[in-house]
Amino acid sequence: MKTRMTANFDNVCMNCLTEVKKVTIEIDELGYGSGFDGWGTRLQLCRNCYDKTNPKWWELNIKRNGFNEEYEFETEIFAYVNKLPIIGKELFYNKFIFGWNAHAMKSFL
Ligand SMILES: [Zn+2]
Repeated sequence: MKTRMTANFDNVCMNCLTEVKKVTIEIDELGYGSGFDGWGTRLQLCRNCYDKTNPKWWELNIKRNGFNEEYEFETEIFAYVNKLPIIGKELFYNKFIFGWNAHAMKSFL
């Protein structure tokens, strides 16, 4: 498979796995109440795939409620990411992960 041979995953669309100039969405770690509690990552999409999503998701506005915080469209973001192909998920949940609560394993890519 062509994508397996790709050495540089910095240019891979996580949805269609083509290597192109892409849109990079940096997702910062948040705090208690968020699915991103203590970890952040990066989502990369080609322009074509990006245009099929709702751009409002990626504004990453933070909703705060007492000690809880979360991104405004977290449910939609995780639903989208969980439909990505396994290589896309690997990049999102493992290879590009960071933060004090990030539990990365050695990447298979
Ligand atoms: Zn794409």
